[in-house]
Amino acid sequence: MALLRGAARLRLRLCGRGLNRPRPPVGARPLSDKVLPQPQTSSGPDPAGDHLLYTPEHFALKESLRKLIDQEINPHVDQWEADGQFPAHRIFKLLGNAGFLGVNKPVEYGGLGLDFSYSMAVSEELGHIRCGGIPMAIGVQTDMATPALARFGSEELKQQFLRPSIAGDVVACLGVSEVGAGSDVSSIATKAVKDGDEYVINGGKMWTTNGTQADWMCLLANTSDGPPHRNKSLICLPMNLPGVHVARRIDKLGMRSSDTAEVFFEDVRVPCKNVIGQEGLGFTYQMLQFQEERLWAAANTLAMMDNIIQETIQYTRQRKIFKQPVLYHQSVRFRLAELQTEVELLRSLVHRATALYIRGNDVTKLASMAKLKGGRLVREVSDSCLQYWGGMGFTSDVLVSRFYRDGRLMSIGGGADEVMLEIISKYMDTLPRK
Ligand SMILES: Cc1cc2nc3c(=O)[nH]c(=O)nc-3n(C[C@H](O)[C@H](O)[C@H](O)COP(=O)(O)OP(=O)(O)OC[C@H]3O[C@@H](n4cnc5c(N)ncnc54)[C@H](O)[C@@H]3O)c2cc1C
Repeated sequence: MALLRGAARLRLRLCGRGLNRPRPPVGARPLSDKVLPQPQTSSGPDPAGDHLLYTPEHFALKESLRKLIDQEINPHVDQWEADGQFPAHRIFKLLGNAGFLGVNKPVEYGGLGLDFSYSMAVSEELGHIRCGGIPMAIGVQTDMATPALARFGSEELKQQFLRPSIAGDVVACLGVSEVGAGSDVSSIATKAVKDGDEYVINGGKMWTTNGTQADWMCLLANTSDGPPHRNKSLICLPMNLPGVHVARRIDKLGMRSSDTAEVFFEDVRVPCKNVIGQEGLGFTYQMLQFQEERLWAAANTLAMMDNIIQETIQYTRQRKIFKQPVLYHQSVRFRLAELQTEVELLRSLVHRATALYIRGNDVTKLASMAKLKGGRLVREVSDSCLQYWGGMGFTSDVLVSRFYRDGRLMSIGGGADEVMLEIISKYMDTLPRK
């Protein structure tokens, strides 16, 4: 019932937003359209009635989001990539107005109150954005900085930080990684020391996505000297407080339209009531949302890989070498067939894990496998496809070279491949015995 109510709300919100306007004329996607026509997606939308996970409501959501992407985001991606930043406030407001920033967040705070499978549908569709940086920045807002707040935050914190984040009125960031602690989250050094009814925060965060534009940070800090898994808290930290210094925007190999900051805290005073849930449980809350984060990240790679393969098919079909299209060389089309098969296998794993998860199962192992496979496959697909573009693949003019750079992060960020392998090993009971 709740789901049906949510779906009805969704239809209502999506209908009234002007998202059904006709598409703008072709020319909106300069990158790679310079050399070839629009691609057809291979796996296209599955027939709604036959899909194992998605209902007609999921497909309606995806379609509306696609229109917003095609009209409001993709025409500007090249410019934002060149600028090293996209206008997060403007884009988040558009997404928030249409309900996309809170599909599985509570209705009381402006969300659509749907289950996590809708968040996955959004993640998959965001893969049609013609870069990796913007989907990542959106994912930080919806599935990294806000899930713990939605689940465990006080009413006051939800009104102050969650509601405007869902509406797209503010930009959020997640402050977990530090210069000295990335894979090993338990070793973070940032401290929040109690002084009356305030914390005084000192330390710094590294690699903060949205960090130069954010209005608030979901900060993980040590709030006591206890054991590393019980001494951390998540704190809602307004970024305009005295002592918060955004030191620099980090220049990166890829994800160029997403700003990444290094942030320092110097005697930053924040009320103790800004702690999310119980003090000392921040590490636990962070771990709890990993299943969703990892599934979201894996789902986000699917459309990206479909599009790279499709554009490669189109390019190699019209590019002739030795008197026949590159595509007609058996090694080329066999490789593309193999890659598309791998993408479909990943899609099946992601959908199966999601179906099990929304029924209440622990899917940590499957989610970790999906994140691992997604990271590896993006590298394989972009590298193999780039090869078939010849010199064109080495230019900045084609999508494949952008995803070659952007996709590399997937095996590092949000838990490196090796961290996933450790978790999978644990579930396989193959860790060394003490
Ligand atoms: C563009 C970008 C955006 C990011 N956004 C955010 C953000 O918004 N918020 C945030 O908190 N963090 C963010 N991160 C940080 C990201 O999550 C970390 O980079 C990641 O967790 C790895 O940490 P590290 O860079 O410190 O690498 P390290 O922890 O130093 O690890 C180095 C390497 O060691 C290897 N390794 C790790 N564990 C093992 C193991 N058990 N066995 C063998 N080898 C291992 C891996 O190959 C790993 O890449 C971002 C990073 C980047 C690059």
